Amino acid sequence: MFTKTTSAFSAKWADSTLKIGHVILFVAAVCISLIGISIWGAFNSLAYHLHDKKVEMSNLSKALSSSIAATLTQADTVILGVQSQLNGEGTGPEELKKLKMILKLQQKYLPQIYGFSIYDEHGRWLLNSNDRNQSNLNNSDRDYFIYHRDHTDSAPFLGPPIRSRLTNEWVITLSRRINHPDGSFAGVTMATLYLKYFLNLYNNIDIGKHGIINLASSTGHIIVRYPFHDAEVGTDISSGEVFALLVPGVASGTATIRSFIDNVVRIISFQRVDGYPLVVIAAFDKDEILADWRRESFASLIISSILLLILSVLGYRLIKIMSQQIQAQKELQHSERIYIEANKALGQLALEDGLTGLSNRRKFDLFIRSEINKAKRKPDDLALILIDIDLFKKYNDHYGHVQGDECLKSVSSIIKKNITREHDLAARYGGEEFAIVLPSTDYVGAFIIAEKIRTDVERAAIQHGESPAKVVTISLGISALSGSKADIPEQLIDIADKALYVAKSNGRNRTVISDNLPSARPLPMPRRMGSASDTEQSL
Ligand code: GH3
Ligand code: MG
Ligand code: MG
Repeated sequence: MFTKTTSAFSAKWADSTLKIGHVILFVAAVCISLIGISIWGAFNSLAYHLHDKKVEMSNLSKALSSSIAATLTQADTVILGVQSQLNGEGTGPEELKKLKMILKLQQKYLPQIYGFSIYDEHGRWLLNSNDRNQSNLNNSDRDYFIYHRDHTDSAPFLGPPIRSRLTNEWVITLSRRINHPDGSFAGVTMATLYLKYFLNLYNNIDIGKHGIINLASSTGHIIVRYPFHDAEVGTDISSGEVFALLVPGVASGTATIRSFIDNVVRIISFQRVDGYPLVVIAAFDKDEILADWRRESFASLIISSILLLILSVLGYRLIKIMSQQIQAQKELQHSERIYIEANKALGQLALEDGLTGLSNRRKFDLFIRSEINKAKRKPDDLALILIDIDLFKKYNDHYGHVQGDECLKSVSSIIKKNITREHDLAARYGGEEFAIVLPSTDYVGAFIIAEKIRTDVERAAIQHGESPAKVVTISLGISALSGSKADIPEQLIDIADKALYVAKSNGRNRTVISDNLPSARPLPMPRRMGSASDTEQSL
């Protein structure tokens, strides 16, 4: 019972420890997952921010490229018309007058146009849509003039940014060649566009504090860069990283590069302008993107940390509560164990004789009653031996009560030694009297055991100066169910007691078997069992 309880307790304890282990593992896994998710989220967010900005810059450069192409195409459409008219009709005063009116009208609707001009084959001014008198100016030294003079093709020429000789305004030129009817060079028709038109366009775009928008020539010279600095106009950036990427055949791209103008690392996107030797570059300061990301990550870090803290505290409390519960359970189990042990001890005490360790009278009474019932049900045999120490009063008187107790213990241990079957019971019946209940045993079996005990006591040679035998001896009376009229314990005891009485009467130190009649007087039938003992049977 105790072993069973202990092992059940150990199993419960191991189970609880296992559960705490699971909880610790679970809380740790959740915390690690949360940290992992936060780190992964932060890196993911960074990648997303960078990618997002690349897409934004790419869209911006594409939109700007289309807008610039449209702006230039509008201007080119006008000078193309002028070119075809002059090529057919020549540069007579009437034609020029008519043209001037048309150009002035066109200029009204084209805000990017600084002016339209026509020059003759010597670079002298023929027409200006702004009514400025430029007759004293000669533009034969300008790039566009030299280009058209030396190239017979009728394609438009986009010149580098220049300052207007009249107003000092930054402009770019888009020009076409005019031919005489014989195909020889007759001059140049030109549209001049404000650089500030492009700047105004860029001004309305949010590209952060350190973002840039750059319109450059395909040869790698800055035309207009936002934010605008005079000194940067015309700067050669062809050796920069953007132009290393802008190899022939590549129309657009994105990259993260360090500007060699201001040393800032930017996410850039470049896009060639369709139909013109131009490239638009839109760039956003990477640090600004990172600052945004850091702000976001910091906020999510704070939230994750709070969650982690809450989780840790809850986990800790849960584990603590579980530990307390297990501790309480352990203490309860311990108390239970003590209680069971105490109960068992009490039970033992209630059914055991304190001096001899044999069963006590109470146990004997319960046992014989239940065994008689069992034997009657089956039916089966059952025998009872009553034992009484001979002349024990004298022993006590002679050796003292303490020695008397020792003698009782010695006789008890001889009885115990001879009662080896599990279902037999030896009890201290009272004073110096003992009783042995032998289930499934008849007179013969009981007699053999009785005689064995009697002779063992005699042979133990416990000195008894007051006895004729000079050693302690015992007398025994036997009764049994089979053949007897005994039906209840009292009758069986009575029969055995009578047999015992006969044993005493006949000189002690002997075994007497009753004559099976509860009410009748047992008939002793003496039979010598050995030289030092007397045994009688009344069978
Ligand atoms: P008989 O042979 O006829 O049985 O003689 P007896 O002296 O044994 O007779 P009786 O049964 O009258 O005496 C029993 C004695 O056993 C009386 C009592 O002093 C003693 N006795 C009973 N219980 C105990 C005990 O627990 N310890 C000791 N030392 N003596 C006991
Ligand atoms: Mg007695
Ligand atoms: Mg006696």
